Amino acid sequence: MAVSTNIKFKNCLIINIMQRKIAVIGTGYVGLTSGVCLAYLGHHVICIDKEKAKIERLEKGSIPIFEPGLDDILKKNRAKIEFTTNLKEAIEKSEVIFICVGTPSRSNGNIDLTQFKKAVRSIAKVLGGYKVIVDKSTVPVGTGDWTKKEIAKYYKGDFAVVSNPEFLREGTAIKDFLEPDRIIIGSEDEQAKEIMLDIYSSINAPKIITDIRSAELIKYAANAFLATKISFINEIASVCERTGGDVKRVAEGIGLDKRIGKSFLNAGIGFGGSCFPKDVDGLMEVAKKKKYNFHLLKAVAVVNKNQQQKFLRKIKATLVKTKGKTVAIWGLAFKPNTDDIRKSPALEIIRQLLKSGYQVRAYDPVAMANAKKEVGTVKVRFCKNALEAARNADLLALVTEWPEFSEMEMVRVKKIMRQPHLLDGRNLFEPQEMKKIGFSYEGIGRR
Ligand code: NAD
Repeated sequence: MAVSTNIKFKNCLIINIMQRKIAVIGTGYVGLTSGVCLAYLGHHVICIDKEKAKIERLEKGSIPIFEPGLDDILKKNRAKIEFTTNLKEAIEKSEVIFICVGTPSRSNGNIDLTQFKKAVRSIAKVLGGYKVIVDKSTVPVGTGDWTKKEIAKYYKGDFAVVSNPEFLREGTAIKDFLEPDRIIIGSEDEQAKEIMLDIYSSINAPKIITDIRSAELIKYAANAFLATKISFINEIASVCERTGGDVKRVAEGIGLDKRIGKSFLNAGIGFGGSCFPKDVDGLMEVAKKKKYNFHLLKAVAVVNKNQQQKFLRKIKATLVKTKGKTVAIWGLAFKPNTDDIRKSPALEIIRQLLKSGYQVRAYDPVAMANAKKEVGTVKVRFCKNALEAARNADLLALVTEWPEFSEMEMVRVKKIMRQPHLLDGRNLFEPQEMKKIGFSYEGIGRR
């Protein structure tokens, strides 16, 4: 995908800053973006990962994830970045340590803090002198306090813990990091607050200084609220389907109200990815542990699950007989502009279709390799382009709204399909246009 090589950030003006020595633990979507962007801000960064192969790739200048613009900004700031698997050495050389490891959810909704706790203990064992330990991973409220206690078991000197949750979105990660809506700094240590403000001094965004617990909750509350907006509009879509309204028009009509806002009002097959589902579950679990029943979030999760099931029911209602019927899936990533397939609705839909006996052909511009690892190549035919996936299909299901799909010549697509059924899970196409071409078209909350 072509990405501008001269990215400019209007709210990020590199001024004469004091170069800080920063270690970043974890080179995933958040860690690598944070490391590279902190170097762009002028700091010296040591990126650490436990996976040797990842570090070797990064040392050669090859990015292990798909994130538009990341390779370019890395190349331009390479002199300020080191990559290593040697955590001890990296921590000894740094004054600030960012933890950016994964915090996935367990099947019961609880957050799995194994990676996080391991990272904290590894830091604690090698600390020497005052250092600031910054948590960027999304962790349940109280984890910062646990971190302080745990480090104090191993290290008797002075240190500080900061919660600095990350709000970047995959696909626009660099812009989100360098031009955020706000920066949250949760700490009870005055020196650490000053260091954090200094690190981000080039970024012109509101900086909210708060206690650690509030900072931890801000991240969960933000994601839970955005997920709530998505489930709300999906409920409105279901009402539209029963009443004849068009959810796109309804979303436009309510979104122009500044109190509501336009974003996150796209009806579809529900949210996925590595953050929203786990953060909704995580916040519910936090509330449950404190004997609070978070009724609203429970409904958000149920609505989200139902959206996928409704989509599957639509496929099955269209292709009643499964024998010899082929469904083409356009899009495998959980959203456009990323290769991330974690909790992607596409994969669950594929699994259910295979279970029901349909043949599946699939295509995604960048997430095919990850999807192949997840669902295997035996049952799913992964195609080299969108047209090939649609060829001889009985139904085309649009699952991820990649720009490439909206630019397709749909007349040609219709011609090569065995039956012209189009199920648009992201309301990417205009119903009337598709019907004019000859598709039997169905979107979400619009016909
Ligand atoms: P990820 O799984 O892509 O990356 C985690 C990385 O940490 C991996 O490369 C892993 O090898 C490495 N790692 C784990 N334990 C380690 C250790 N002890 N030492 C060195 N390396 C170690 O995860 P991610 O998507 O970048 O998310 C990281 C955190 O940020 C999570 O808490 C997530 O909820 C949060 N977050 C993610 C996003 C997003 O869009 N992905 C956005 C905001 C916040």
